[in-house]
Amino acid sequence: MNAPLRPSHLGFVAPTGTQDTIKDALFQPMGVDGVYARTGLYEGIVERLAAYISSQREAGTEVLRFPPVMSRRDLERHGYLKSFPNLLGCVCALHGTDAEISAAADRHMQGGDWTSALSPSDLVLSPAACYPVYPIVAARGPLPAGGAIFDVACDCFRHEPSPHLDRLQSFRMREYVCIGAPQDVNAFRERWMVRAHEMADALALPCRVETASDPFFGRIGQVMALSQLHQALKFELVVPLKSVESPTACMSFNAHRDHFGTTWNIEDADGNVAHTGCVAFGMDRLAVALFWTHGLDPAAWPASARSALAL
Ligand code: 5GP
Ligand code: ZN
Repeated sequence: MNAPLRPSHLGFVAPTGTQDTIKDALFQPMGVDGVYARTGLYEGIVERLAAYISSQREAGTEVLRFPPVMSRRDLERHGYLKSFPNLLGCVCALHGTDAEISAAADRHMQGGDWTSALSPSDLVLSPAACYPVYPIVAARGPLPAGGAIFDVACDCFRHEPSPHLDRLQSFRMREYVCIGAPQDVNAFRERWMVRAHEMADALALPCRVETASDPFFGRIGQVMALSQLHQALKFELVVPLKSVESPTACMSFNAHRDHFGTTWNIEDADGNVAHTGCVAFGMDRLAVALFWTHGLDPAAWPASARSALAL
């Protein structure tokens, strides 16, 4: 089934379908907004997308796959609590003696609250796929000439419960990350903004690339977001899903300048503080966008999308 497309005054064509037309075929509820079991139909497309992104990997890129958790201390050092404390999920556990742990479990069995006995562990749920790569690179010493490029992925968590299919609490992110001299990182981001746009075109997703800002927390966050916009440090590839007026970001292109290089003392080949940048593919957003735009039957999707996904 192909969703009918309609032209828009913003130059987009937007699907007339709604998320209700695709939700049951793609997801099964798990009792919490933004956390779903995924069907075979959906997961098959996520796998094809992953293979398509791998097929675009540049020579010399090092592949690393991360678990869904990372060191709490490392994330604190990144400054995450300054920027997005509201989104962070921290792994808590029952610490203490056997007697204390039993007492908490017993309280639950008697209908009471056991969670007050929880305390934080050394782990947080990773909010983005690239965070763990910087301390790993820092531990290796100075970068080679030309910098280094990584292909990373992990399940990410952000505490943003929502009934919308394009806003999950638990979602998959794939990233290419460049760490090197400023010119290496700038060239990397320029290349990927073009290539990723071509990829979205091949997937027949109506899209555009625009400057963007992260949802920094609080009033100081508003200033940080404006500064990020002003300096064009973030771009997003957006696709109209819920509406043409507020399209959904399916990929982002980020320049962190020397933030991670300074935090982790990463040196480029000339001994200067390294710059970093990343291109992030929201795997679940891209998969949802494909179904939302082209309908539930991948065999009926546009030929270029079927070819890109080897369907
Ligand atoms: P960023 O770090 O730029 O916020 O996120 C990178 C990419 O992850 C986004 O472009 C988007 O595709 C994906 N992403 C971010 N937040 C969410 C979310 O709440 N749900 C889903 N499914 N994907 C997200
Ligand atoms: Zn990143």
